[in-house]
Amino acid sequence: MYNLKFPLGKILSLLVIVSMLFGSCQNENDVQPVETQPLSNDIAVLKSFLSETTGTPLSNITFTDDTFTIDGDVVMPLKNARDHYAKFQTEKSTTGRTEQRQYMYLLTPAVAAGITIYIGADVPSVWVTSINQAISNWNNGADSKIHAAVTTTAAGASIAISMNAGLPSNVIAQASFPDAAGNAGPTVHINPAFNSTLTVSQKQFAITHEFGHCFGFMHTNQTNGALIADTPVTDANSVMNSVVLNWNGFTFYDFIAFGKLYPHTAGTRRLLRYFSSANTDHFYTINTNEIGPTGNGWAFEGGSGYVYGTPTPGTVPLYRYYDAVTTDHFYTLNFGEVSWTYEGVACYVSATQVPGTRPLYRYFSDDTKDHFYTLNFGEVSGPSWTYEGIACYVWQP
Ligand SMILES: [Zn+2]
Repeated sequence: MYNLKFPLGKILSLLVIVSMLFGSCQNENDVQPVETQPLSNDIAVLKSFLSETTGTPLSNITFTDDTFTIDGDVVMPLKNARDHYAKFQTEKSTTGRTEQRQYMYLLTPAVAAGITIYIGADVPSVWVTSINQAISNWNNGADSKIHAAVTTTAAGASIAISMNAGLPSNVIAQASFPDAAGNAGPTVHINPAFNSTLTVSQKQFAITHEFGHCFGFMHTNQTNGALIADTPVTDANSVMNSVVLNWNGFTFYDFIAFGKLYPHTAGTRRLLRYFSSANTDHFYTINTNEIGPTGNGWAFEGGSGYVYGTPTPGTVPLYRYYDAVTTDHFYTLNFGEVSWTYEGVACYVSATQVPGTRPLYRYFSDDTKDHFYTLNFGEVSGPSWTYEGIACYVWQP
């Protein structure tokens, strides 16, 4: 995170910081493997490949000390560049899916579900706090397959965090990207120069951001990498912007991006929940553009589990209706349950509880004429709410 193009003196005032390191590194004390002196042609091919796959102009990719530097702030060791290139060639020849190259930077689902994080003994408590906050953000706020936990064993940890006083003075921290085998980026290095110059909140933002790199997310505000479907090209408060902010939660499109790349179950899409207080109406959709982050008085209230967007074996349609008189949206597996305006199939869900699913509970308020669906039994209560049973089952651990 951060931008080397800014004059050094402005960096702190702009709060533009943190960087990332591409690829997997060994422990810093390891002896670096001896690389065969590469042919210049090899480097040229890899430069072109990195330019194409990261969306970076060729002129912004340099090669020194067996390492590629991309756009000033992403570093990829030669070995990793070769691994990525080899994997890309294999995928291209076997599937022809050249447009899906962003997948080579992502975690496998099994890896995503079991990230272990080792915090080095040299990491001061101020950063340990932010590391734990960042883990909580990913585990509880992202609502994705990604789940991380601290381990006290260095060997075998997915990500090792350590201090590095040798980082450039304008870089808060550096992270690494997933490798070609789908493992998490193995390192986060923190610059001790920022131990006391960042607020607790900024540290939380910075570490949450760095973990995002380890999980395969690139900078929202730069053009490197492939755009994640259903997300915009700019998002002012995205955690993956290269500008450190005070932590204020993930943005709507951060949330969308996490669910796109790491759904709880492959092929599923997040059911998004909104509420209009003016109309006292809860609304659910899988279409991220139908309302977006907000609009016409709708407040985004998070995800309500994962569902399918197309007919899938084992699923049934969830029908959507609307009553303009009571301004109430209604969802049911029973076509024709109400004689309201039929608005189509909302999504495809399970009619019975199968592994990986949870009930979506249905409530109705006769006071406000509002149907409400939630994963949390008892989320609403009191005399105005009537529990009407399980609407369907959605994919959610
Ligand atoms: Zn970054």
